[in-house]
Amino acid sequence: MNASTSAAPEDAGVLIIGGGLVGASLAIALDAAGIAATLVETAAPRVDAQPSYDERNLALARATVNGLDTIGVWRHAVEKATPIRHIHVSRSGEFGSARIDAKKQGVEALGWTLPARELGAALLRRLDECTHLTRLAPTTLAALEPLPDGWRATIKTPDGERVLDTPLLVGADGTESFVRAQLGIEVERMDYRQTLFVCTITPERDHAHRAYERFADEGPIALLPLAERRCGLVLTVDTKDAEAVAALDDADFIALAQRRFGWRLGRLDRPGKRHPYTVHGVAAKQLIAKRAVLVGNAAQTVHPIGAQGFNLGLRDALTLAELVAATRDPGDAAMLQTYAERRDVDREGTMSMSHGLVRLACLQQPLLAPLRSLALLAFDRIPPLQRALAKRGMGYRGISPVAIREHLP
Ligand SMILES: Cc1cc2nc3c(=O)[nH]c(=O)nc-3n(C[C@H](O)[C@H](O)[C@H](O)COP(=O)(O)OP(=O)(O)OC[C@H]3O[C@@H](n4cnc5c(N)ncnc54)[C@H](O)[C@@H]3O)c2cc1C
Repeated sequence: MNASTSAAPEDAGVLIIGGGLVGASLAIALDAAGIAATLVETAAPRVDAQPSYDERNLALARATVNGLDTIGVWRHAVEKATPIRHIHVSRSGEFGSARIDAKKQGVEALGWTLPARELGAALLRRLDECTHLTRLAPTTLAALEPLPDGWRATIKTPDGERVLDTPLLVGADGTESFVRAQLGIEVERMDYRQTLFVCTITPERDHAHRAYERFADEGPIALLPLAERRCGLVLTVDTKDAEAVAALDDADFIALAQRRFGWRLGRLDRPGKRHPYTVHGVAAKQLIAKRAVLVGNAAQTVHPIGAQGFNLGLRDALTLAELVAATRDPGDAAMLQTYAERRDVDREGTMSMSHGLVRLACLQQPLLAPLRSLALLAFDRIPPLQRALAKRGMGYRGISPVAIREHLP
C-alpha cells in the first residue's frame, strides 16, 4: 500500500479511480454540482481505447435515462438510442410469459437500448464540458497510503509519477478493483460458468420496440431493439461450449440462436461480428472504508442477464454525488455511512434479482417448472405484481437519487 516517490503531493479534490461508464458518470455529476474532483483512467480518452465503451448493447432503464438527462449526458446520446416500449419474458418449453407494456404503465418508454460505445462517446463529450474536473488519462493508480484526513495516491502518467492527496477516494475501477484490494475489502465471488456472445442481427419481422428475454436450460437469450430494425442479441452458453460456439460459422450460429429464441420474430438473419464475454459475479462485502467508497462494478458486478450493472452503478454514482454535494467534508464518515445505508435496499434487491434469475431460469430443475410458469403468468395477469415488476424494471427501488426521480402515473 505504501506510496513512496519524491514528487510533491497535489490536492486532487474527490479522487475517482476508473473512468468507465460509472466513474465517468460520477465525475460529471460531481462537476455539475460544482465539486472539484480528479478522474484517473488507465485507458486513453477515446472510445476505441476504453475497454467497456464497446459493442455490448446496454438496456438502459427509464430511471437511468432520467439520470443521464439530469447530468447533461443524454442530449449527446439520444439520437443513437432506441426506445423499449414492451418487455416480453418467457421460458422455452413452459406456458407462462410475462409482458410489460409502456402504455399500460402510463409512460412512453420503459427504457432505451444504446450501444455502450455510443454511451461512452456521449460521456466523453460531456466530460469535455466539465469545468471543475481534472482528467488524467492514460494514467494508472499505482499505490495508496492512508493519511489522517484522507488518502495519498501515487499515479503513473505518461510523463512519470505524480502524488495526489484526497479527502475522499472513490474506487470506480471495475470488477477486479485495485482500490478495493488496497482497502482490504473482501469479496464474494459467483462462478456462473457461462459465456455471453453479443452481436447484432436482423429479424424477419419488425421488433416493434419489444425487448425479449427467453430462458432455457442451456442459458438465456435476449434480443434488444435497435435502430433500422436491427436487434442486439445476447446468447448465453456454458463456458465449456464457448470455444465451439465461437468457432461456428454464421449460419450455424444463427441456427443455434433460432433454436433458443424460437420464431416470434420470424427468421433471424445477418449476424454481425460476435463478441464473447465471460460472466463474473462479484460482490464487495462492504461499500465504504475510512474516507473511501466503492461504486459500480467495483462494488458489485452482476450477471448481465438482468441488464442491471450500469443501471445500478449509475444509481451508486448519483446517490454519492448527491450526498457529497450536501456535505462540507466529502469524506465525512457519517455521510459515507448514509451512502452505504441508502444503497443497501437497491443493491441487495438488484443483486438477488439478477442472481435469482440465473438460478431459477437457467438451472435444470424440472420440479420448479410449474412454479416458474405460474410466477411468469402471475406477473402477466395480476396488475399490482406487474406494476411492481415494471417499476423495478424501470429502475426504481429503495431510496432513489433525486436526479432520476419522476412522477409516475
Ligand atoms: C455483455 C454485457 C452486457 C451488459 N449489458 C448491460 C445492460 O444491458 N444494462 C446495464 O445496465 N448493464 C449492462 N452490463 C454491465 C455494464 O456494462 C457494467 O456494469 C458497467 O460497464 C460497469 O461500469 P464501471 O465503470 O463500474 O466499470 P468498468 O466499465 O469496468 O470501468 C472500470 C474502469 O476502471 C479503469 N481502471 C481499472 N483499474 C485502474 C487503475 N488502477 N487506475 C486507473 N484506472 C483503472 C479501467 O480501465 C476501466 O475503464 C453489461 C455487461 C456485459 C459484459
